[in-house]
This record gives sequence, C-alpha cells and structure tokens, in this order.
Amino acid sequence: MNRHISVGEKMGTLPSAAYHCSPWLHRPRATRSGLSPIFPRLTTVLCLALLGAVAVSAASIGPLPQGKVPPGKTLMVIQPHHDDHTWQYGFGGLIAKMTAAGYKGIYVRVSNDEKDGGMQNGWGANDKSNYEDAIAATKNLGIGEVISLNWRNDHMSSIPHVELRDQLILLVRKHRPDVVMSYHPWGNYDRNPDHRKVAWAVGSAVWLAGFANVRPDHEKLGLKPHQVPFKYYSQRSDYGRGYHPNIFIELTEEDVARKALSYRLHKIRVSAGAGRHTRELLDARGLKIPELEGLSDEQASERLQEMLMYWTSSQSGQDNGVRYAEVFYFMDEWHGVPGLESYIQQNAVER
Ligand SMILES: [Zn+2]
Repeated sequence: MNRHISVGEKMGTLPSAAYHCSPWLHRPRATRSGLSPIFPRLTTVLCLALLGAVAVSAASIGPLPQGKVPPGKTLMVIQPHHDDHTWQYGFGGLIAKMTAAGYKGIYVRVSNDEKDGGMQNGWGANDKSNYEDAIAATKNLGIGEVISLNWRNDHMSSIPHVELRDQLILLVRKHRPDVVMSYHPWGNYDRNPDHRKVAWAVGSAVWLAGFANVRPDHEKLGLKPHQVPFKYYSQRSDYGRGYHPNIFIELTEEDVARKALSYRLHKIRVSAGAGRHTRELLDARGLKIPELEGLSDEQASERLQEMLMYWTSSQSGQDNGVRYAEVFYFMDEWHGVPGLESYIQQNAVER
C-alpha cells in the first residue's frame, strides 16, 4: 500500500489552520521519526487483504501543532456507543493523559447499543453487556462515571435534533466540563448515522449551553449557563473526504497499551465471530496471514485489533515526528473569534 504524502509535504508548506495555536499548543515538529509501524509484515498483508479499507486519506495532514493537556477539572466524553471512546483513531490516549493529570471523567453513552452483538440473547442482553463493558473500559482510562441516555441504537435518525441537543445542554450545565470530546460535529463523511447524529448535537449543545436565553427553564433546576472552554473532536480520516485535524497529542507506549486494553474490554470487539469473519474474507480472496496461524478465532480477533490500534497510533505519530499520536480538531475558548485568538497569542502575558 502506498504511504500517504500529506498536503503539507506536497505543497512544501502547512495549511494556515495549523498555526491557529492556542496557549495549550506547542509549535510543530518538522521532522519525521522514520519509525516503522509495529507488525510491519502483518500490516502489509492485512492491507492487501482488506483492499485499502484502512488506507489513510488525503485528509491526514501533518506535521501539526502539538497539543497538551489544558488546565481544568472535569472532562466529558459524549459518544453514541459504548466503545467510541477508545477506538483506534482517537480519544483513549488523550483521556488517559487527562485523568492521569487529575481530571474527573464522565462518559455519556447516547445509545443503548442493543444492535451491537448477536441475536442469541436478544437486544436487551446486548444493551446490558455493552453497558457493563463501557463501565469497565472507561474505568481503565480513569473515567469514574458512565451516563447512558439509552436512545435506540440505529434508530437515531428519528430522534428530534432539538431533544437530543437539549439533553446534552442540560448535562453540560449540570457537570460544567472544562473539556468535551466527541466525534467531529462537522465531519459529515462518517458512514455511521448514529455518529453523525450525536456529533451534530454535541457541536450545537456545547455552544448553546453558554447562553442564558437557551432553555431558560434550566434555571429552575439551579443550572446556570456554562461555556465549555476546550473541545476535542475526531473522526475517521478514511471515509469520504475525512476531516482536517489541527493538533496532535503525543502518546507514550503506556498510553497506547492502556487504550488498546480498553478497546479489548469491549467483548464484542474481540469476539471469535469477528476473527472468524476476517479469516473468511481472507480465505475468499485466497489469502492468509501467517501470524494468525495456530491462533483461535478469538485470539486472531484480539491480535488484529491490537495491530490496528498500534498501526493507527504509529501512523499519526509518524505524520507528526513522534512515535505514537492521536490527532484532533481542537477548539479553545477563543476559537469563535479568530482575530482575537491571534491577538491574544501575540500580545497576552501572564499576570
Ligand atoms: Zn460507534
């Protein structure tokens, strides 16, 4: 598979958006590490087998400015499904960093995940099992609370946007997070309708939660308006035209290992069925992965998931001159007024 060449490399320059740094960013590192991805042979074979299903698109731009953990106390991660906090492309590594720095973490699971699993035990069993896994997996990342809104999985297109948005406004006003993480609200190329629906509602809610004339009835509950200062959005970069991250977060080996463990704690992600299905796809194309020979279907599934986790983190790292990284579309408190943001960066001093 051809290695992606970033737009910045082709043009010999970086997009201007990359320089919209906040005080919580460092300037970009210009060099590439040249590190080979972990499991290179496995990666090559898998990429051939999946015919580019994990290809990095032209939307992956680097090197980007380096982000760091901002000051704050409360982190709220709002996602549609039980496992969206810790997939290969984002969140888990940064969540681990933030909770290690003292953040209190809250995970909001918007759907009930009833369709994520087999039909042997019914949808109710899937909901319960995935909810329990979400608690264990987020706990491994340092998150202490899971709030489940229990909207029906795969039926989100019928949820009134305003109703979901207002639920999130209420949660933001109640918990008053300094940081919100979610899928990218304006990344419309995600094929999953639940992802698009929730991300759009999050983008609206974190903005509107700061205005007293939006849902003024919340005042009767003692809930004041709250403006979320720091937003971290991410999305797959290999669907459609992807999205354009504007920062990277460097991950340590421990961060990636922790993220990988959280992903595995979602039993549905490393099921024997998933391993068997991948082998059947390879078999249908006359292919096999030698490293998976002798493993059970469940072990093969776990091995593949771990490889993808390290491979994706490594690719983002190479794009930004470090070993491992996650990339995000980051918005700080000045983002809404770009001119003011630039002026503050150039002129503000610490008191
Ligand atoms: Zn999902």
